[in-house]
Amino acid sequence: MGSITLEAVEKWFGDVQVIKGVDLEIKDGEFVIFVGPSGCGKSTLLRMIGGLEETSRGRILIDGADVTAQPPAKRGLTMVFQSYALYPHMSVAENMGFSLKTAGAPKAEIAEKVTHAAQVLKLEPYLERRPKDLSGGQRQRVAIGRSIVRDPTAFLFDEPLSNLDAALRVEMRYEIAKLHQTLNTTMIYVTHDQVEAMTLADRIVVLEAGRIAQIGSPKELYEHPGNLFVAQFIGSPK
Ligand code: ADP
Ligand code: MG
Repeated sequence: MGSITLEAVEKWFGDVQVIKGVDLEIKDGEFVIFVGPSGCGKSTLLRMIGGLEETSRGRILIDGADVTAQPPAKRGLTMVFQSYALYPHMSVAENMGFSLKTAGAPKAEIAEKVTHAAQVLKLEPYLERRPKDLSGGQRQRVAIGRSIVRDPTAFLFDEPLSNLDAALRVEMRYEIAKLHQTLNTTMIYVTHDQVEAMTLADRIVVLEAGRIAQIGSPKELYEHPGNLFVAQFIGSPK
């Protein structure tokens, strides 16, 4: 399960309000993209869902349970960032299994989960390598593998591909789409890249200065942008 509900969510940094009342219902297994210009509040909203940022007002529910006051570890979600630090002295397998080891999981269970993640991400040939002997794309896959082994309720991605070169970005975009098909887990994905949004999303949430400007499928937004801001952002012909 992995439905996520936001009810009148607000975020204030001191007396500056950066999230201005967001209501959103994300269905289990849905791929939802937050887009919008730099500074509109995408990362803040995502971090509030993940519990890395306190919610000033409103409620966040996961599968119907109010998690607004819960710390990240109790929410069952996992975050993948653009800058991910792999442990240089550990192999790929050790990097992917490390959080389970820290949590005290049995060796056999760790091995099973790492093997499964490696299969999903096509990392089986590289399990014994160190991060320095991997390509950029392989390293990014290891970072995602660390999340997969946790069996998260949902994946939260914050511009995970923005540090990669253009060709790799296309390849990883395809990998993430496949990952979603394989795992069928809820994914919330922040990007300012329209192409990523249009190709990956079941639904796109367009944010404008801390508010939702429009929500819809890529096709709906493209064909019926609600206002000029959305039209310009999505690249609609009007
Ligand atoms: P985005 O990810 O869409 O680029 P952010 O969520 O990072 O936007 O930021 C939204 C707004 O909140 C910006 O104006 C940013 O400067 C502000 N902001 C983000 N984090 C903090 C913070 N810790 N303290 C004060 N202001 C912040
Ligand atoms: Mg951001």
